[in-house]
Amino acid sequence: MKFISSSLPPAVLPDTAWWFIFKKDEILLSDSGKGPCIPLISGPEALQVDPVRTQYLGLLDDRPCYAAEIGAQEGVIEGVTFQPLRALFGTIPDDLFNVAFRAAMILHWDKTQQFCGQCGGKTRPSGTERAKVCGVCGATSYPRISPAIIVAVINDRSILLAHSNRFTHDFYSVLAGFVEPGETLEECVAREVKEEVGIDIRNIRYFGSQPWPFPDSLMIGFIADYAGGEITVDNHEVCEARWFTASNLPKIPGKISISRQLIDWFVENYSSL
Ligand SMILES: [Zn+2]
Repeated sequence: MKFISSSLPPAVLPDTAWWFIFKKDEILLSDSGKGPCIPLISGPEALQVDPVRTQYLGLLDDRPCYAAEIGAQEGVIEGVTFQPLRALFGTIPDDLFNVAFRAAMILHWDKTQQFCGQCGGKTRPSGTERAKVCGVCGATSYPRISPAIIVAVINDRSILLAHSNRFTHDFYSVLAGFVEPGETLEECVAREVKEEVGIDIRNIRYFGSQPWPFPDSLMIGFIADYAGGEITVDNHEVCEARWFTASNLPKIPGKISISRQLIDWFVENYSSL
């Protein structure tokens, strides 16, 4: 399926659209006949829900897509279930899942940019692009995206994996951190690794990227080689970090994230060495 992003719906619309409806952090699923799925319906009234906000997202194979949020107080709705967005990964087609990520980010933006950051005036939709315009001072604001780097550091046949106090699970993962204003991505990669585990790296190269709507990140993945120094954890972001070979990995993150893609890349390339 091909997705074409737009902030404005076409003049003529098909009878049904994909509706990505959220209640707090959970997404609404209806029974498609083949299990729970994103509802393909004429509108939210078909499910007897009344959204507090709605955003048009674009077309998925000529089918319109909408993001909507319903109030947390909305009671039991016949024939639907709610699931955390992350739990949806692998249970619905990837193309739909990717639009669900997009929907979550755009709803977050719509909710958090109701007032101008410059003067506090009420904002309104731009009407021509995915932006909001302040009704008082005229300032335009766009959806915020917070870039964060994520890096697999390789040393001979081992990968550096760390355990963080912030993780709610007991797994180990690659290092990550937010980009600071004025910093290049490569500078950010080197700084984060130095700050969190005290080692130097070299040969930083791009791996891939992933939107991460918790709530507004873009994860930018890199691979780098160990250059020197002893692992010394900062005990703030990271409480334990070690080198692991492909045959001796600890518990690692689930398939949904780019952190797992980096670890899978390492296993694929270093398991036979
Ligand atoms: Zn303003």
